[in-house]
Formats: sequence, C-alpha cells, structure tokens
Amino acid sequence: MNQAQALYQLQTIDLRISEYKARLAEIERLLAEHTRVPAAEQTLRQAEEALASSRIRVRDLELELKGLASKNAATEEALYSGRITNPKELQDLQEEAASLKRRHNRLEDSLLEAMIETESAQERFQQAAADLAQARAEADASRQALMAELEQIQQALEPLRQQRTEVLRQIDAASLELYKKLYGSKSGQAVAPVEDGACRACGVSQTSATVQQVRQGHELVRCNNCGRILVMP
Ligand SMILES: [Zn+2]
Repeated sequence: MNQAQALYQLQTIDLRISEYKARLAEIERLLAEHTRVPAAEQTLRQAEEALASSRIRVRDLELELKGLASKNAATEEALYSGRITNPKELQDLQEEAASLKRRHNRLEDSLLEAMIETESAQERFQQAAADLAQARAEADASRQALMAELEQIQQALEPLRQQRTEVLRQIDAASLELYKKLYGSKSGQAVAPVEDGACRACGVSQTSATVQQVRQGHELVRCNNCGRILVMP
C-alpha cells in the first residue's frame, strides 16, 4: 500500500468516524430535549386544582342550602303556629319567608351549575391524566431507542479507531500533514480517486504523465486543478 492509498483508507475511516460523531451529538441533543411530559404534568396539576375547587364549591353550596332549609322551617313554623297575631309582625314574617324561598331557589340553581362544572372538571382531569401517561410512554420509547443507537455507535466506533491507528502507522509525517490540511479545507475530501483519467472530486482530466505517476505511487501526486491528493481506486 503506497502513501496515497493509505491516506485514502484513512479518509474513509475518518469520514465514517465523523458521521458517527455527528449522529452522537444529535442523539445527545435529542436526549436533552424537553419532551411533552412537563407540559402534560402542568396541565394535569391545573386540572386537579380546578376539580378540587369545584368540589369545594359544591360542598359549600350544599351546606348553605342545608342551613337555609332549617331557617325556612323555623319561619314557616312561626308563620302557621297561630302564635303571632300582630298583622305587622305577620307581614314581616311572610316577607322573610318569601325572601328565604327566593334565596333557596338561587342557591339551587348555583348548586346545579357547580355540579355540572364539577363533572366537566372531572372529565378534563381524566383526559389530562391520560395525556400525561401517553406523553411519558412516548418519551420512554424514544429515549430507549436513542440509548440503543448510542450504544451501537459507540461499539462501531471502537474497531474504526483501531483501524485508524493501524493505517496511521503506514503514513509518514509529511503526508499526514498535507492530508490534514486538505481534509479541513476540502470538507473531508483530501484524497480523490482518478476515474477515466480525471479527478473524481472536481472532474478535471489529468495528463497521462500525472496518471502514470499516480499509478506508480512513489510519491504523492495532486490534482492539477483542485489540489487534492490523487489515488488509483
Ligand atoms: Zn481535482
């Protein structure tokens, strides 16, 4: 294996390593990304609070109605007992009984509304709980898949790194320096194969002398147009 061929192998390995590393970075970003879970938790908390206060309102109204009923009974009892004969007093009592009745009706309406509200708060709470469970299941599944991929990539990287070390042993310092410079400036395409007498990277035809030199592989030959290191495929 001549220097150009060794560099071409190195490039193949380096490109795969950098693809894997890019995917690793992407996976790490995805793992750190917020899922729908916190928002679903927040919705559930709010639904829970709304349900609790709705239930308290129903209970309060029921207590108030109860209190009103005994007041009402006392007024009616006094009204029909025959104990009160004073017409002014009787009239006051009648007015009070009527007012209590109106308040009772209003409270009953409010209670009905509060009960309906509690029912829908209950439905919203159940929906929020189901949403949260689903969000958690999705987050777990995606996390597991990403962790599995992460592990696969780490396993695949290990032999690649070993291959890289072996290839590097066959490359001299000057060739490696040129390769690194070109690898950086030519987006990972430092070495280009010669195809039908032309550089595959830029497509420009090379002289037959150049092609001959590449074939012999005694020294590094660069494309007369793009400057990449040429190699016979
Ligand atoms: Zn070229």
